[in-house]
Amino acid sequence: VAKRLEKFKTTIFTQMSQLAIKHGAINLGQGFPNFDGPEFVKAAAIQAINDGKNQYARGYGVPDLNFAVAERFKKDTGLSVDPEKEVTVTSGCTEAIAATMLGLINPGDEVILFAPFYDSYEATLSMAGAKVKGITLRPPEFALPLDELKSAISKNTRAILLNTPHNPTGKMFTREELDVIASLCIENDVLVFSDEVYDKLSFEMDHISIASLPGMYERTVTMNSLGKTFSLTGWKIGWAIAPPHLTWGVRQAHSYLTFATSTPMQYAAATALRAPESYFEELKKDYKVKKGILVEGLQEAGFKVFPSSGTYFVIVDHTPFGQKDDVAFCEYLIKEVGVVAIPTSVFYLNPEEGKNLVRFTFCKDEDTLRAAVQRMKEKL
Ligand code: GLN
Repeated sequence: VAKRLEKFKTTIFTQMSQLAIKHGAINLGQGFPNFDGPEFVKAAAIQAINDGKNQYARGYGVPDLNFAVAERFKKDTGLSVDPEKEVTVTSGCTEAIAATMLGLINPGDEVILFAPFYDSYEATLSMAGAKVKGITLRPPEFALPLDELKSAISKNTRAILLNTPHNPTGKMFTREELDVIASLCIENDVLVFSDEVYDKLSFEMDHISIASLPGMYERTVTMNSLGKTFSLTGWKIGWAIAPPHLTWGVRQAHSYLTFATSTPMQYAAATALRAPESYFEELKKDYKVKKGILVEGLQEAGFKVFPSSGTYFVIVDHTPFGQKDDVAFCEYLIKEVGVVAIPTSVFYLNPEEGKNLVRFTFCKDEDTLRAAVQRMKEKL
């Protein structure tokens, strides 16, 4: 394997999902729903296939989807963007992240990450030759240490990678935190790459896109996808929204990474994004119930559960159960209890920082969540 990927192992999600199957454990690890996406979106995909929309799509997206993304972004943020010049459709948000890094970062540029962070960020930055600087968000609040951020920014800082609502903690960056990030970026001429794939799963406060803050649109790449919002994580449809001078870089990388994304799924994605507001309200309502079952169950089982405002994840402190670290705890949980969680140490530059914390997901049907909770209450 190439040197730039040497330190990265099989992704923790793949590892844990394989163990779930091997041990017949209930999988509250990898974040994918065990229920299906909406019928009207599936029907639109079948229709597109039957209508012969099966050859390469336009590289940066089928016009209808670029338009639907712009329309949705306007509803969500109030910003009007040009679907032709400022929206790029990608194969999931993971490709949007890769295309953004590879298209806009030079080797040696510094990029700031907030730890714990989603595992693809560091690996992709490594492929781009970036220098990674980590700032740790600490429990219980996972608040942004503003002074640390200030002193981490140097003349070599090219970008800050933001993720709100935040995987794995469920933290949502507050208006105050975003204001500080924005003013530091403007002052120091730094870009923001903002992964907002959990924006529709915001339970305790309203989601804020940093691109909508004064002076920020011109320096922000906002990324999102279909997977979480429509329970279709296997479709891998994502997009990046950015002003033309940044979109150019994203599109250049995208053109030579994947060239284009699945055509019929893009037509269906456009239909999905035009869902009535009631769809999004219903989704949130369903997830609130699921979250309640999991959080209450984890507390009753004896965990300290940290507050999560968004995403379909919660972080707990596993130390009441006496295992030496997060990986040991997850192994114990799979083998002795029959439940899978995700150890968080892989989401830190310094794994020590995650050793007390594990992540559970509640993107499962209620019976599955109840069964998992029951096992933990009985066997932990
Ligand atoms: N984003 C999902 C999670 O955090 C799954 C990602 C993956 O499997 N690579 O669980």
